[in-house]
Amino acid sequence: MTQTTKPAIGLTLSHHIVAGVVNNNKLASALQSYPPEGEDYEDALIEMPREGIISVMCDEIRALIKGGAKPSAVGVALPGIVRNGVVEDSPNLPQLKGARVEEELCAALKEAGISTTVKAMNDADAVAAGLAASHGKLETTIRVWTVGTGIGFGRYPIVDGIWEGGHTVVTLDDKETYCGCGGRGHLEGIMGHRAMRLRFLDMEPEDIFENAKKGDPRCMEFRKLWHKALAAATASSIHISGAGKFYLTGFNIRFLDQNLLRDYIEQMVRMSPLQNFTFEIVPEAVENEVLGAAVIAQQAIT
Ligand SMILES: [Zn+2]
Repeated sequence: MTQTTKPAIGLTLSHHIVAGVVNNNKLASALQSYPPEGEDYEDALIEMPREGIISVMCDEIRALIKGGAKPSAVGVALPGIVRNGVVEDSPNLPQLKGARVEEELCAALKEAGISTTVKAMNDADAVAAGLAASHGKLETTIRVWTVGTGIGFGRYPIVDGIWEGGHTVVTLDDKETYCGCGGRGHLEGIMGHRAMRLRFLDMEPEDIFENAKKGDPRCMEFRKLWHKALAAATASSIHISGAGKFYLTGFNIRFLDQNLLRDYIEQMVRMSPLQNFTFEIVPEAVENEVLGAAVIAQQAIT
């Protein structure tokens, strides 16, 4: 990995827009957040039109580089399918569908007197790159599941393709239609936070797993399904790309029982060269995503 001295900026967009300066593959500033700490409410960005989102991103970048060096590159991590600078689809932030994020943010920055390059990417890929950078593994392949509102599948290094692993089909049951994308039988339709709320209209995801512990049959059944779904998608990834390590993160990874997951995967993956898979749970950290976004942006220009 070539060491760079010119800072880059990483920016991630989910419930908040969070940005930070990255230098030599490490976070080098405090994070800027919109909405600011204390003023946050869950749907702040869902209700914001796309022009507003671009302008908040631009303001955050300006605030970060106030008086400092101009960034060599800006990396933007977004939920959804992001290819060639365009958000092709984003079920969890629908107003971004079709947004030419690289072009639009670049133009907004230029107007503010900052000329730099912008690289847009899927947020789970930023998580994977952030883990690679913070674990000193920029030379190895990293796979990560992000278990939150949606389910993301990240890979580092970035390889061309779609990689929407969160929409892996894990069941043929016709009634499984809770995925935010509208597709039937998807992993996210079982594990995603929004999907769980749709399935159990009478309880929150926390209550489902709490009630499963207390022996509620419907919740116990769902807890098994939740783990089996992740096992199935992981087994599919193993059968396509081989075994190895999977990182697990996101705010709902708190519901995971690693032993149960391992048990299900072992039942699904029986070929001996594919059985050396491992997991590591890493706490969700927005710093990691910001770092990864900047690392990918910097690699794109070198
Ligand atoms: Zn889906």
